[in-house]
Amino acid sequence: MIIFGTKGYLYQLAILTLVCGRCGNPSAHTLRKRVTKFTLFFVPLFPFSTKYATQCTFCGAEQQVTREQAEELQAQEAAGQGGYQGPGGQTHGPAGQQPYGRP
Ligand SMILES: [Zn+2]
Repeated sequence: MIIFGTKGYLYQLAILTLVCGRCGNPSAHTLRKRVTKFTLFFVPLFPFSTKYATQCTFCGAEQQVTREQAEELQAQEAAGQGGYQGPGGQTHGPAGQQPYGRP
């Protein structure tokens, strides 16, 4: 008798600040890789499925991304996301730096 099956592995690759496609918030998103491995007698032999997804930590929406996108996002994180520094609040949205309204 041969016992075979699959086993899923979940890896968290990065945490990124992205604008969510669902809730529209620029919130932290986790980038995850889900690898499904073929197992024989409960021993994982080889992966036959690898999927990448981002998940919004604000609303929980998960979005699948391609491997290329995932690599791009990881590169973005490594590069410091091009200017956004920390959750400080100095650059809170692109709303005007110049307050109009003085008559
Ligand atoms: Zn969201």
